[in-house]
Amino acid sequence: MLFRSNVMSMGKICPHCNTPLVKVIVPRRRPWKLCLDPECPSKEEYKKKRASKSKAS
Ligand SMILES: [Zn+2]
Repeated sequence: MLFRSNVMSMGKICPHCNTPLVKVIVPRRRPWKLCLDPECPSKEEYKKKRASKSKAS
């Protein structure tokens, strides 16, 4: 599979799930950090935030 975004290893470990962190670089967007675990607690928080935001309308 080919993605437009670049993923770079950061050599760091996620404090939430001890999974390696990567830096995602997308053209015209700010790079962001992401851990490779889809079940990571930090992502749960993110999902909750998004959910509460959509409810608040
Ligand atoms: Zn994580």
